[in-house]
Amino acid sequence: MKRLIVAGSVLIAIGIICSSWGFLGHRTIHQLAVYELPPSMRMFFHHNMNEIVKQSVRPDQRRNQDKEEAPKHYIDLELYGDSAAWKMPLKWEDALKKYGKDSLAHCGYVPYYVITMKDRLTAAFRSGNKDSILFYAIDLGHYISDAHVPLHVSENYDGQMTNQKGLHSLWESMIPELEIQQYDLRSKHKAHYLKHPEQNIWKAIRKSQGLLHDVFEQEKEVTKSFTEGEKYRVQIRNGRESKSYTSAFAKAYSAKLGKTINERMISSANLVADFWYTSWIDAGSPDLNKAFQTTASKEEKEKLKKEYGAFKKNKLLEKKLLISRQGYDKED
Ligand SMILES: [Zn+2]
Repeated sequence: MKRLIVAGSVLIAIGIICSSWGFLGHRTIHQLAVYELPPSMRMFFHHNMNEIVKQSVRPDQRRNQDKEEAPKHYIDLELYGDSAAWKMPLKWEDALKKYGKDSLAHCGYVPYYVITMKDRLTAAFRSGNKDSILFYAIDLGHYISDAHVPLHVSENYDGQMTNQKGLHSLWESMIPELEIQQYDLRSKHKAHYLKHPEQNIWKAIRKSQGLLHDVFEQEKEVTKSFTEGEKYRVQIRNGRESKSYTSAFAKAYSAKLGKTINERMISSANLVADFWYTSWIDAGSPDLNKAFQTTASKEEKEKLKKEYGAFKKNKLLEKKLLISRQGYDKED
């Protein structure tokens, strides 16, 4: 189901809707990552915040037109053999030699594509082309975020092999929508330079894989306390029956998962900021404000200060500064 794209709504039709992180997740992650950048980068990114946040879901939308897009968003680790997350080559060229393009396209290759995007962002910073910088920064952030979702690193990506179909969007879309009010969206993280970015993205992949056991088992555990009628809501849409998880089940499952989803969201933002920063450093730390005449008005500086303060105190939502939440109702 990862291969099908639709914006999430609270009632998610199993088998119809699935995307990565959902609109809310991707947009939130991109916004948080901007605050973690050093001041030398933050103003330029903040100046373009609306585009960065809005376009964070663009790679998912692209899947509708481009059949080569999907495998860039996931990696079905089991298909690469035992302990693949520890044994796979770090470089794309070596992976190509080892598995061939067809296998990689079939089994997914998100960690490699993250590095490809990182290199393109570095080149964009060097070229000084503003549109390219934004384009690659946004896309890079998307793929890094996808790598943080456990169900993006397994062939059982929607629970379809264990009679848990629909698990994908439950985890990454429905629960964040229901629970975001409770999430702690603060992070003390400050973007830092990654000496070996390949290793960092693989570390994130391994962590995602390590969470899979709980993702599946806790769903089974929670199911024990629900009847079929309490777990699913059945609707007829366009003459077809569609099943969706009930909010009660989603909340019970979320409680069982604890802070996992919240933490994966923050970890995503942290690594996105690190990759943006690393690309910028590798490009020779160009002066973004000078290059793009991002002379911030007093008003804009105040706005950033206010948002940054709210971010540090986990008050973005309360102060209605979380962009993903502001536009979300309209998107649906
Ligand atoms: Zn995606």
